[in-house]
Amino acid sequence: MNQYFADMGEKPFRSQQILQWIYQRKVTDVDNMTNLSKALRLRLKETTNLALPKVVNQQISKDGTCKWLMQLSDGNSIETVFIPEEDRGTLCVSSQVGCSLNCTFCATARQGFSRHLTVDEIIGQLWVANDALEAMGVATAKPDVISDHRRPVTNVVMMGMGEPLANFDNVVAAMNLMMDDFTFGLSRRRVTLSTAGMVPAIDQLAEACPVSLAVSLHAPNDALRDQLVPLNKKYPIQTLMEACRRFVGDSMRQRITFEYVMLQELNDTPSLAKELAALMADMPAKVNLIPFNPFEGIDYRRSSKSRIDRFRDILLSRNVFTVTRKTRGDDIDAACGQLAGDFVDRTRRSERMQRESIRVSLS
Ligand code: SAH
Repeated sequence: MNQYFADMGEKPFRSQQILQWIYQRKVTDVDNMTNLSKALRLRLKETTNLALPKVVNQQISKDGTCKWLMQLSDGNSIETVFIPEEDRGTLCVSSQVGCSLNCTFCATARQGFSRHLTVDEIIGQLWVANDALEAMGVATAKPDVISDHRRPVTNVVMMGMGEPLANFDNVVAAMNLMMDDFTFGLSRRRVTLSTAGMVPAIDQLAEACPVSLAVSLHAPNDALRDQLVPLNKKYPIQTLMEACRRFVGDSMRQRITFEYVMLQELNDTPSLAKELAALMADMPAKVNLIPFNPFEGIDYRRSSKSRIDRFRDILLSRNVFTVTRKTRGDDIDAACGQLAGDFVDRTRRSERMQRESIRVSLS
């Protein structure tokens, strides 16, 4: 934007003014941006386009979780989820239309992949969610938020549809924008990116945008992880752990969250808990156990509460900081791994999967 204004001989602070209009005062009609000259407004109208994702469906869970189906300008749609908690409001943001990874327990994977989201489509989810929540009267009073522009969304997790590091440039630009003082001013502690383990991009992220990192681990050894997260064949666990260590660097201050989906009798045994504890031994880590969220046509089962507790207790007894993630919004299919937009699958994976399951049921 700075470049755009420089090219037309305008002062660089024009971009700050525009950001404030759009993100803080929620003005999306250039005509109402009153501190810009008439000539500049005309020019902006002629050369730029201000568009937001369109909410086509809004669902509210009985626990207060909100899910929106947002339609993009090309007709594809994606999902975004808001999770209210006592002291914060977290928005789960999508980074791609579908996902090109093929994790076996994830609903988004089943749908295949269409394309990357653009920067405006990523930041637009935050804009639209805040707007919708404000219209519903949701306000998150955060005593430690200094900004005058308090918004219902205090935290962002890049944990919606897609692999954010596969769409690196757009995701980084959008996250930098969220953290800008002239937009939402989120601190980097409040922005978390989750990855299935794209090693080279983890290194790049440390340089480009040092937000909080979450890694979807799900298994402590390659044999098992290869089955659950096929990307592991490319970047096996040791390589991934080394990248995580480089990411925290010498500071050792910033903890990495390791996500671990709990699948009954598959990755939830006591011996795997011990293996996981050993893997976490010299890592500033927090393990987040996610009870598996089922969806149609999937054979995995969620681990029982007693198995999850046992797994957690083994980790805790070995000094690994571990919490079980509370399942939120599952009555509206808004929980982890249940997001599925509505789009054209360019990989034709969904079609293939359907054919295979028909074949299986015939045989
Ligand atoms: N592609 C990124 C971002 C998605 S984050 C990543 O893999 O990290 C969504 C989180 O939910 C990931 O940890 C993912 O592994 C997990 N998840 C996927 N399907 C799930 C399911 N059915 N139940 C519980 N968690 C699931």
